[in-house]
Amino acid sequence: IHKIGVLTSGGDSPGMNAVIRGVTRYALYKGIAVEGILRGYEGLLREESIPLDRRSVGEIIHRGGTMLKTARSEEFKQVSAQHRGIQYLRSKGVDGLVVIGGDGSMKGAECLGKLGMPTITIPGTIDNDMAGTEYTIGFDTAVNTVLDAVNRIRDTAFSHDRVAIVEVMGRQAGFIALHAGIACGAEIVLVPEKNITLPEIKKRLVASHQQGKTSSIIIVAEGAMTGEEVYQYIKENTANMNPSLTVLGYIQRGGAPTARDVMMASVFSEKAIDSLIHGVENAIIGLVHCEVVATPYEAAQQYKFAINNDMYNLVHALGQ
Ligand code: ATP
Repeated sequence: IHKIGVLTSGGDSPGMNAVIRGVTRYALYKGIAVEGILRGYEGLLREESIPLDRRSVGEIIHRGGTMLKTARSEEFKQVSAQHRGIQYLRSKGVDGLVVIGGDGSMKGAECLGKLGMPTITIPGTIDNDMAGTEYTIGFDTAVNTVLDAVNRIRDTAFSHDRVAIVEVMGRQAGFIALHAGIACGAEIVLVPEKNITLPEIKKRLVASHQQGKTSSIIIVAEGAMTGEEVYQYIKENTANMNPSLTVLGYIQRGGAPTARDVMMASVFSEKAIDSLIHGVENAIIGLVHCEVVATPYEAAQQYKFAINNDMYNLVHALGQ
């Protein structure tokens, strides 16, 4: 490997910049040149790229978002477009590509690998729901952002004897809701992986209020149901439970990355470059049973981690 390309793709996540820095500086440290491709696969097809040196990735380690910008590209799903992308990379002397993104971005990287361009994917998404890893860059920051927001909402909920409903991100997976729910001491957490009906939510709220609670927090992952549904149901079906609704939205995707995200970004970056150097390619870098490993794309589905059942039970045991 003489020169790598690096790009960020799909939704941005805090810590992507730390990965760009880690990948660039570790590659240069190993004598490999780096080309930064702008705007993901979209930019690859538009032939937008810049050479990266040590200084060009300075002062970004603590910034949310991605200095390379990110995008989605429907066109890139066609094989002819993928061939064009590879041609452009070759014209720049790139002989290996590091892709930072979610499941879709990994699929794109796998396609490029099959057509002869070696790729490595580093998991970057706040949702923590990628095959091949227990951890994705951005997750810890998102959980801490939710925790911070809920702590503020909690002050008001307590003062006004309210049931605070907080909708968080997580279409397919409830990792953010569950981890933030434990961390903030929520009474009820709704995740896409588990079914709780609205009458059951009411029953639990009534039970905890009978034990002397006057305010409660319910965290709803958007993929379970909408916060609005929970809000309306409680409003219409309880006499004195005064619900409030907060939809956190995009604040969860931004912000300075936490120590854990920057640490993992740096460690994953080192593993990505070392893998390419040692001829391990077309693989996802991830944490599997607490070890940093490179798993071939075809095998990644074997390491599809789900939310922890014990943790799900614990949040409700502690929250009553
Ligand atoms: P997020 O976690 O934010 O959803 P993601 O990487 O999963 O991130 P996607 O929009 O699913 O985001 O994918 C990003 C890009 O990857 C797409 O716009 C497309 O260019 C490419 N891509 C996705 N799926 C495929 C596929 N099956 N084949 C080729 N390329 C793909």
